[in-house]
Amino acid sequence: KSSDIDVLIVGAGAAGMMCAIEAGKRGRRVRVIDHARAPGEKIRISGGGRCNFTNLGTSGANFLGENPRFALSALRRFTQHDFIKMVDRHGIAWHEKTLGQLFCDDSAKQIIRMLTDEMKAAGVALSLGVGVKTVERAGERFQVDLDDGSRVTAASLVVATGGKSIPKMGATGWGYEVARRFGLRVTDTRPALVPLTFEPGLLEQLKPLAGVSVDAVVRHKAPKEAGPGRPAKETVFREGLLFTHRGLSGPSILQISSYWREGEAITVDLAPGRDAAAEILAAKTENGKQAVHTAVGHVVPRRLAEALCARENLSGKLAEVGDKKLRALAEAVNAWTVKPVGSEGYRTAEVTLGGVDTAALDQQTMEAKTVPGLFFIGEVADVTGWLGGYNFQWAWSSGWAAGQSC
Ligand code: FAD
Repeated sequence: KSSDIDVLIVGAGAAGMMCAIEAGKRGRRVRVIDHARAPGEKIRISGGGRCNFTNLGTSGANFLGENPRFALSALRRFTQHDFIKMVDRHGIAWHEKTLGQLFCDDSAKQIIRMLTDEMKAAGVALSLGVGVKTVERAGERFQVDLDDGSRVTAASLVVATGGKSIPKMGATGWGYEVARRFGLRVTDTRPALVPLTFEPGLLEQLKPLAGVSVDAVVRHKAPKEAGPGRPAKETVFREGLLFTHRGLSGPSILQISSYWREGEAITVDLAPGRDAAAEILAAKTENGKQAVHTAVGHVVPRRLAEALCARENLSGKLAEVGDKKLRALAEAVNAWTVKPVGSEGYRTAEVTLGGVDTAALDQQTMEAKTVPGLFFIGEVADVTGWLGGYNFQWAWSSGWAAGQSC
């Protein structure tokens, strides 16, 4: 069986569905296919089931990539406020949780429902449980053979297959293969927004801390000439940090993981805004009989205080410990420098850093400059947002932009 349409979109995720809606509204004959059994599976599990669908403060500064300015055009044409209007039109209640992050009051499924309803209204055909076998260029059109034995020819082919994170949910590197096949460069890809892991020795020391969480400031500085998309400036995040049985997690660590590379250190302030040295030395003056870990326990949670004292080999009373050692202990609180060995990988990463080289794409339309009719939107492109709703906003904005011209 073969069919001839205007736009074939591969991937019924956030970006693919947004693109389909917009192209459908323009009267295009649009079909979206996905090998998954349901559309928007990542939307469903996002934000703990409530989908952090955008961020009020979205700007170009919240994105990484070899050309971080690439995203600006689409982000300005379809903004966070445009998406909020859409959500409001569908009567979906939402709230700001923290740092401009907007979540559904009830369920992420409402966002999926909104998108599938809009696709229906725009006359878009959605085929689930269908993958692509081959893609060929046939003159000005694309000839795509699907694994259900059918053939589709289309004037535009939109690749919206996302990144490699959470392979268990159907993530593939297929979009990158298509890009390479058509001569487009793909930048190095790696797991991002991902927990970081420690070497066994350090893990052993920090084992008792699994489950402890603190407010933290996490810093990272890329070395000079670290490569494209990695400016040698310090990146700083102040958000929660969680000790795990494999290393560190929590929002501040996920954020910094997008900037960090193997072999590099991060610096962690476990008591932001507090001067641990001043507080511990004052405690020593006031009450030298106090146990060292008790004094530190006034600055950070007790379990953390105990682990830090054990690691620095400090037991006994404050009066028995020299100021120099107490200062070193305080430094471990306010400026703990640590070298993670790796990350938990694509199994738990929220996104993929890197992707289809944005230099090969038109920033207004997401169309490949050298292959008319071929579009790359959402996470498959080399645009990666911070944690906090930015990745979905990029999916909506880039999907919308492609939807205006495919
Ligand atoms: P996806 O949403 O990944 O969609 C790609 C689609 O393509 C999928 O449906 C997949 O089945 C399909 N596909 C892949 N390969 C093929 C193929 N070969 N053939 C056919 N179909 C294929 N971002 C936020 O902004 N806020 C959040 O709260 C948030 N929470 C997250 C929580 C988790 C656990 C994870 C993993 C990610 C989260 N993200 C969040 C990131 C966000 O989900 C992604 O950035 C976003 O979904 C990317 O949209 P996309 O449309 O590009 O790709």
